[in-house]
Amino acid sequence: MASVTKDQVLAALADILDPDTGQSIVAGGLISGVVVRDGNVGFTLEVDPARGAAMEPLRKACEAAVERLSGVLSVTAVMTAERQAGGRAQDRAQGHGQAQGHAHGHAHGGQAQAAGAQQAPELLPGVKSVIAVASGKGGVGKSTTAVNIATAMAARNVRVGLLDCDIYGPSIPRMLNLSGQPEMAGERTLRPMANYGIKCMSIGFLVAEDTAMIWRGPMVMQALEQMMRDVEWGALDVLICDLPPGTGDAQLTMAQRVPLTGAVIVSTPQDIALLDVTRGINMFQQVNVPIFGVVENMSYYVCPQCGHRAELFHHGGARETAHRLGVDFLGEIPLDLDIRTTSDAGRPIVVTQPESPHAGAYRQIASALIDKAASALGGAGRPQPRIVMM
Ligand code: ADP
Repeated sequence: MASVTKDQVLAALADILDPDTGQSIVAGGLISGVVVRDGNVGFTLEVDPARGAAMEPLRKACEAAVERLSGVLSVTAVMTAERQAGGRAQDRAQGHGQAQGHAHGHAHGGQAQAAGAQQAPELLPGVKSVIAVASGKGGVGKSTTAVNIATAMAARNVRVGLLDCDIYGPSIPRMLNLSGQPEMAGERTLRPMANYGIKCMSIGFLVAEDTAMIWRGPMVMQALEQMMRDVEWGALDVLICDLPPGTGDAQLTMAQRVPLTGAVIVSTPQDIALLDVTRGINMFQQVNVPIFGVVENMSYYVCPQCGHRAELFHHGGARETAHRLGVDFLGEIPLDLDIRTTSDAGRPIVVTQPESPHAGAYRQIASALIDKAASALGGAGRPQPRIVMM
């Protein structure tokens, strides 16, 4: 069966009329970011903020129209209330303003932005500090570290949230033993899911895993912004953001878009991974986000039978790299079967084996991060990020 094309998708959507103007939604510039991959279709429906929830039937109609096309396997229409008067959406539909061009940016460290910039509503108004957990590549234990740090903070009565920004491989719901869908908290807001004292939001609650895989930059950014702005996070001391692995453009844009107080980089001790640490540090420095430090995961192995300690890779490599680059080393976590099984079963070791030395190691890292976040804020609460329309 021939796969559907982008033009066919736009043609199907062109027949749908904007209920307010009576104009085609395509001609009216409401559709942007159309992505077609192997029969999986994604696009964004942009509506005026004031029309928000009332447009849900329109979103459904869009999905239904595209589903009827031959060769379509799945359709996801993401509704965003980002549309501004003056046809910003139109620019995008015409191919301008892709990726970062249309985006909100915010300057860290008081960097100047274009004159005449408008102030947009803050994305996370009740959140004091936002800490990113990042890694140069996948599989180094970034999410496991994020979850165990979050649970360690919750155990200290820190009000903590965990935002799974890993749109392409959301594993936080499983690691926190959360499933199902978040409830609506208001007309346009979702209530975060919660377990182990941690509020959590993940794209994994909202779409099937394979659907998010086809999203490209602009859709990912919109989903991410919605998971910050349209979620009732309430008052939080710390929001931990589990970033997608890697140091490419997507991560850089996220590091810019999320109002980060600081970042933690998780690495294994292999030389290749350490090169990525350097890239990760550079990435955050480029956007003026302070590096809170580096964690070495799968640092060494202790045989549970005989207690022999084996250093599988160049143990201590992350510590050396951190020192060489002038950033703090936060701690090392061994390669351990209990860490893996508890993490994969949604029962983090900090919660289920709090007396273990591994839980202690996570608690130490969490405690260092709380201190670093507090001193980054200077006790005055999170500095207001300057958000500008570009
Ligand atoms: P990432 O987020 O970097 O892709 P994950 O946190 O998903 O990595 O971890 C990848 C796998 O490695 C998971 O199965 C996890 O349980 C396991 N893992 C993570 N850290 C450790 C550790 N210190 N010891 C043993 N297994 C670990």
